[in-house]
Amino acid sequence: DPPSEKYEYQAEVSRLMDLIVHSLYSNKEVFLRELISNASDALDKLRYLSVTQPELLRDAVDLDIRIHTDKDNGIITLTDSGIGMTRQELVDCLGTIAQSGTAKFFKALKDSKEAGADSNLIGQFGVGFYSAFLVADKVVVSTKSPKSEKQFVWEGEANANSYTIREETDQDKLIPRGTRITLYLKRDDKGFAHPERIESLIKNYSQFVSFPIYTWKEKGFTKEVEIEEEPTEAQKDAEEDGSVEKKKKTKKVIEKYWDWELINETQPIWVSALRLRNPKDVTTDEYNEFYKKTFNEYLDPLASSHFTTEGEVEFRSILFVPPVKKEDMLNTKTKNIRLYVKRVFISDDFDGELFPRYLSFVKGVVDSNDLPLNVSREILQESRIVRIMRKRLVRKAFDMILGISLSENRDDYDKFWDNFGKFLKLGCIEDHPNHKRIAPLLRFFSSQSEDELISLDEYVESMKQEQKDIYYIAADSLTSAKNAPFLEKLSQKDFEVLFLVDPMDELAIQNLKSYKEKNFVDISKEDLDLGDKDEEKEKEIKQEFVQTCDWIKKQLGDKVASVQISNRLSSSPCVLVSGKFGWSANMERLMKAQTL
Ligand code: ADP
Ligand code: MG
Repeated sequence: DPPSEKYEYQAEVSRLMDLIVHSLYSNKEVFLRELISNASDALDKLRYLSVTQPELLRDAVDLDIRIHTDKDNGIITLTDSGIGMTRQELVDCLGTIAQSGTAKFFKALKDSKEAGADSNLIGQFGVGFYSAFLVADKVVVSTKSPKSEKQFVWEGEANANSYTIREETDQDKLIPRGTRITLYLKRDDKGFAHPERIESLIKNYSQFVSFPIYTWKEKGFTKEVEIEEEPTEAQKDAEEDGSVEKKKKTKKVIEKYWDWELINETQPIWVSALRLRNPKDVTTDEYNEFYKKTFNEYLDPLASSHFTTEGEVEFRSILFVPPVKKEDMLNTKTKNIRLYVKRVFISDDFDGELFPRYLSFVKGVVDSNDLPLNVSREILQESRIVRIMRKRLVRKAFDMILGISLSENRDDYDKFWDNFGKFLKLGCIEDHPNHKRIAPLLRFFSSQSEDELISLDEYVESMKQEQKDIYYIAADSLTSAKNAPFLEKLSQKDFEVLFLVDPMDELAIQNLKSYKEKNFVDISKEDLDLGDKDEEKEKEIKQEFVQTCDWIKKQLGDKVASVQISNRLSSSPCVLVSGKFGWSANMERLMKAQTL
């Protein structure tokens, strides 16, 4: 056997390795995602280079990734049929962190000016491989480059300062092309060596990797087998005279066997195998399927929006409005937006960085080329890229919702409003910069709409010429709104009044303050001005009744703040109103409810 050669890591590597393993990745299960993305890179490189060098594909093996687990010994083996590495590349790529082979390849691509959006090369940061040591004591990389006659083996251990490289001589371990990585798991991490565990990690992190990923899995099928039963004496006699045939009995048994199973069957619909897919080419059915698979739903979404942005930040995204509301949408972390970097899943655990909380009912996927794979929460919070992404995602989400409201089928928006109206009202409170997008989407009951909800646009459109403001009254039910004495004068003038019957309506309106330059005015407040004041006459009347008012105030004492003459009623003799600067009766009810 040719002896193995021992190499020292480049000085900084062993120290950095430790750092990476212990701080860069907070979650050790990401090792699989990193190794799979390296395998996918290697396959990408091979496919890319084979366009000009078809001889690279002469070993006719499929372009795929295979993961084998040995649970008894705690071993995971991941094999790809990609570009592999020569001996020198092993030294350069796995012995050095600063010199990432992928980064080099990118540079080479750029230099050759052949680079395009097509080369899906993941991980420009050159540290992913070492994440194998998050779970493994020993890592063995056996690799065969089409450029080399020989296959080489790199072997490294956690916490060591050196690694070895030798030629692969074991005939059983030779591969036609590509790389086989064997992880000898740490004692506490042997649990990763189960097909089910690997499968669920693939489904979560690597579902959209563009090469097939297989796992070695136990399968079974049922078959009927004959069973021999000892015949009775009588049966034996009968058989002997040929009067009956020998009875055959069968039973069902499960035949077990092991085979490769394809795990990542879902191709992301925002890419085809090699190039971006145009949203126009994707059918509604495909979006629906994608939505249901990605978010484990069984109903079709109410709406979807698929878009690509270019320029400063490049990303692709598909957003969905679910058909129904889930109870806990606002209370718990909703995990509604799944972020991918180059189709590798990064996280869905955001706290408003990528998408505002009040829009958390919107679900979606975002795939960016501009973020590193090992992007952390801290990076996300500070990232300018993320801020730009957030802005665009929000804008698209509103466009999508507006689309539902413009749909010919009015039911769609009714359904939407019924499920998610509360979220938009919350948006009025939480997101002032987006008021102009939220306001047109709001719906209210009104004094003239019977049981239909109307939009603010509809309200403004039917405003009377002499009407300056948008009038509303908050009440705890439609009936009490309809019977409010404050309405009398406005009904007489045929002014429409919004009925704010949901506790959040009033908060939303108060945050908006105005719509299309028309102020919202609470008709239950004391200084309601309907634009028909006759000051002279008012003065006269006030004078006339000063004593009456004083007398009533004396009778009521502290129960009211003051007693005044008003011109706002037409048939009721009196009404209780809230002070101009105080809470409305409805708000007071709300506050009480909250403090109880
Ligand atoms: P990055 O992927 O960001 O370059 P990694 O630490 O994940 O950094 O990998 C380092 C380098 O090792 C890669 O750039 C690549 O050149 C090489 N490499 C890793 N895994 C493979 C593989 N399965 N096949 C071929 N080369 C690989
Ligand atoms: Mg990598």
